[in-house]
Amino acid sequence: MNITTSDRLIKEIETRREALIELTQQLIRIPTLNPPGLKYREICTFLAERLGQSGFKIELIRAEGAIADSDKYPRWNLIARHEGASTGECVHFNSHHDVVEVGHGWTRDPFGGELEDGKIYGRGACDMKGGLATSIIAAEAFIAICPDYAGAIEISATADEESGGFGGVAYLAEKGYFNPDRVQHVIIPEPLNKDRICLGHRGVWWAEIETKGRIAHGSMPFLGDCAVRHMGAVLEEMETHLFPLLATKHTDMPVVPDGAKESTLNINSIHGGAVEQDPDYTGLPAPCVPDRCRIIIDRRFLIEEDIDVVKSEVTQMLEKIKAIRPDFEYEIRDLFEVQPSMTAEDAPVVQTVAKAIEAVMHKRPEYVVSPGTYDQKHIDRIGKLKNCIAYGPGILDLAHQPDEWIGVQDMVDSAQVMALALADLLLPD
Ligand SMILES: [Zn+2]
Repeated sequence: MNITTSDRLIKEIETRREALIELTQQLIRIPTLNPPGLKYREICTFLAERLGQSGFKIELIRAEGAIADSDKYPRWNLIARHEGASTGECVHFNSHHDVVEVGHGWTRDPFGGELEDGKIYGRGACDMKGGLATSIIAAEAFIAICPDYAGAIEISATADEESGGFGGVAYLAEKGYFNPDRVQHVIIPEPLNKDRICLGHRGVWWAEIETKGRIAHGSMPFLGDCAVRHMGAVLEEMETHLFPLLATKHTDMPVVPDGAKESTLNINSIHGGAVEQDPDYTGLPAPCVPDRCRIIIDRRFLIEEDIDVVKSEVTQMLEKIKAIRPDFEYEIRDLFEVQPSMTAEDAPVVQTVAKAIEAVMHKRPEYVVSPGTYDQKHIDRIGKLKNCIAYGPGILDLAHQPDEWIGVQDMVDSAQVMALALADLLLPD
């Protein structure tokens, strides 16, 4: 790419600043809440019209049969593809179109898309409708300036990232849309900050542990066996041995924030004994010895760890308790697992975006890894496509928060980076 092309792209994005603001607002105003998965068809139709006018060929794909797909809440996805003047590689921008619940504490209309002091407010502003709008403006500007490019550009808006991505990227990957023969470079515009490149994420293992007891009258607990006390023994063992063990495990992955450079475990929930009554129940509970107690654990593991070892640390701990604690019975059930994913720093999409960040922001990018997972897992594991990063505008900490916002200047800067990256990958030398 020559200097003139790069300058022209940067200027072209600048002239589209108002269009970028308007598109972001339009996307925020479609409340695609997940769960349960509202307005998915509406946002895909809106994008189909927009991208169709820009010369993209549109596919609307419902993830039929995927988890959570139903006639009431269909999981709609959009893939838009623009062909260049000759054959070449395909650059794909993947954004999820769903947003999480609003929650409390807002001082703005969560679906108003208000613009004030260079910030656009709303649920999904940074995670990730701002990123989606940024990639669309970048692609449209690139096509306008470089219509004779080689290869293809794809933009997808996919369902359900916030609930695992099974009705979105996982479904599309299974159908071959992320096959490396079809797509060579993937950029996911999640809000990782405009000068950082996210190479991947840690692994996840969720499990439910249940301790078993025997029900009896609460006035004679010696006639029963208290499952909550058994779970107490599990928690104590975790405090004295498991948490200290996890704190010794450090990764060389550049995970942010620093606390996530260690292995972590969260106890998501605990429940034992009688089911909690509705708030409108005014009576007392019945006196019973609890015969079941359950916890759900959320273990995040590092690329240096093996998932079988991660699991056996917990089962060995339970077996150790069983060996010394009378009447200790337990069950453990796997709920969910994701392997860690990390794209190599020398991968083409990483190096290209790094160069573009230097050109636009005059600084070297920071390479990071996300503490939690996102759709890269499906592109890596199902699609077998390794040349994938998350790069997009917005401050990660604002995701899922009240008064979520995206900065207009951050979007403009990021759109310039994306457009330069397209030029680098799709223009013949
Ligand atoms: Zn997101």
